[in-house]
Amino acid sequence: MHPVTAPSFADGAVLIDAAGRISAIGPNAEVPAPRPVRTLHFPDAELTPGLVNCHTHLELTHLGGGRKHDEPEFLKWIRRIRELKEATTAEAFYSAAVAGVRDGWARGVTCIAETGSTGAVMRALHDLGGRGIVYQEVFGPDPAAGPVSMVQLKSAVRWLRTLETTQVRLGASPHAPYTVSPPLYEAVAAFARQENLPIAVHVAESREETALIQNGEGPFADALRARGISIEPRHASPIAYLMGLGVLRRGTLCIHCVQVSAADVELLREVGATVAHCPRSNSAHRHGRMPLELFRKAGVPLGIGTDSVVSVGDLDLWAEAEAAGLAGEDALRALTIEGARALGWESEIGSLEVGKAGDLVVQTVRPSGRPTVRLTVVSGRIVHQISAP
Ligand SMILES: [Zn+2]
Repeated sequence: MHPVTAPSFADGAVLIDAAGRISAIGPNAEVPAPRPVRTLHFPDAELTPGLVNCHTHLELTHLGGGRKHDEPEFLKWIRRIRELKEATTAEAFYSAAVAGVRDGWARGVTCIAETGSTGAVMRALHDLGGRGIVYQEVFGPDPAAGPVSMVQLKSAVRWLRTLETTQVRLGASPHAPYTVSPPLYEAVAAFARQENLPIAVHVAESREETALIQNGEGPFADALRARGISIEPRHASPIAYLMGLGVLRRGTLCIHCVQVSAADVELLREVGATVAHCPRSNSAHRHGRMPLELFRKAGVPLGIGTDSVVSVGDLDLWAEAEAAGLAGEDALRALTIEGARALGWESEIGSLEVGKAGDLVVQTVRPSGRPTVRLTVVSGRIVHQISAP
């Protein structure tokens, strides 16, 4: 039994009440088993909190596999993904989202932080009884198109609010510094504050993004100017730039954060922002290594995310932890309670404690070291189970 916020112990049991909350945890002999509670036994297995995937694009699950995404240049790759998305129907996005949520459960993931533009993952989580935060994406690099993007965001939020539950939360995501104009960032930040929506942003991911923001140069700047959009150097890092626009605030989830200085990390700490670290995506796109130790030393809440199947092939959080240089209990903490903190959800999930949601995973560790997930539970409901081999 690995409660994560308390020492691990052997021969443990957990009792989940009718509301899906943990009502007791401890040695098997001491945890009550009142009738008519259903009892499941897993000898030789490990019981942990469900894993938290701090960055997904599950509406792109259908684009995984094959070589559709084999494009070494980041800007061209982004364009390729946009074309593939434009060729996808609403129902195909929904099926992709359902498949993505189920794939996560089979891998022990009980909470996701999704950024997407179609609402498909919010529908899937709502319909399937999953857990997650869905940040509705906003795009618009041309300042003149900002008002149209805001109308689209507001109408999406009106619709998606109807799918909110205690397990499924809504947020907003002005996508990235190369797809969102300064006035659009400010408008989204103001709207999010007014609507009480948490924010997620892709930021400080590539060197090309830094060149665009800092100096108004490079492939992103060239591509935007070719569309008639005027670009000015901001003489600031992407982090400082978004801080100035009011986008970074307490709880803003900053995705990637590879191209950051010690001063950027300090800014994030001061404002109370959090980080989603996606090590395999960063290395697939050759963005470089993010300075994990700087963030940890500063005490910035940091969770691990996979990013999309289009970037990393499969959504294996244990492989992400390994790529981040984490192992053992340290990896387990990063994938559970630290991920929950990065999402501001640590009072509800991320550890096995009385009063928290019954989100947990039972797994057996194979000789290869990779776990086999036997059982996944979200709020006391079994969402994935395989019988003993
Ligand atoms: Zn992403």
